[in-house]
Amino acid sequence: MSVCDSQPATDFFAERKQMVEEQLAAPGRDIKNQRVLNVMATVPRHEFVPKALERFAYVDGPLPIGYGQTISQPFIVAFMTEQLDPKPTDRVLEIGTGSGYQAAVLSRLVAEVYTIEIIEPLARRAEADLKRLGYNNVKVLAGDGYQGWPDHAPFDAIIVTCAPDHIPQPLVEQLRDGGRMVIPVGALENQQLYLLQKHGMKVEQQAILPVRFVPMRRSP
Ligand code: SAH
Repeated sequence: MSVCDSQPATDFFAERKQMVEEQLAAPGRDIKNQRVLNVMATVPRHEFVPKALERFAYVDGPLPIGYGQTISQPFIVAFMTEQLDPKPTDRVLEIGTGSGYQAAVLSRLVAEVYTIEIIEPLARRAEADLKRLGYNNVKVLAGDGYQGWPDHAPFDAIIVTCAPDHIPQPLVEQLRDGGRMVIPVGALENQQLYLLQKHGMKVEQQAILPVRFVPMRRSP
């Protein structure tokens, strides 16, 4: 039996490779970070979508994951991850766990991932999926990510995958000096992804891409 024959047909290995080449590294998409590309070629995205949608897991778009939420388009995951400039020693906070896919991608690039999801059953499901698949350096919290996770602050990087109408001050405070935050801000029709860099008391921010994330909810 050759090495190829031993690859289970359901692993979607070829689909993932094609996703990386055509949706991420291709001219016009221009994801350059080789560590990010390598990780996106290995993390099994199909394990993070509903079974009925498994065969669409590697298409160039978002997919529904239940509870009115979505798993982001692969390109958006890669773009935001590249903008964070993840280092192997980093401790990263994610707001909006959703399926857990973005957390899984980060988990292979950094030391520790902390992720917060406001919809409790989604948080529990992502936690179980991440554990089942061996992403052991990810901690999941069910709660309102607007407040961050002060017990584990400061973070080297913060990634927000739901859109508030302003940048939450608690998150700025929980970012270490020199740290980076990637966050979508604004209503659906007029939303921009921002890259923030903290330098002492100063926060530098720039809009880097028009995007469409679900709104950040606030706990009652
Ligand atoms: N990163 C996810 C996709 C995020 S979808 C993935 O890889 O699949 C956005 C998620 O943000 C949704 O699951 C939504 O419930 C969650 N969310 C919305 N407001 C939130 C808040 N205040 N705190 C934490 N999570 C929130």
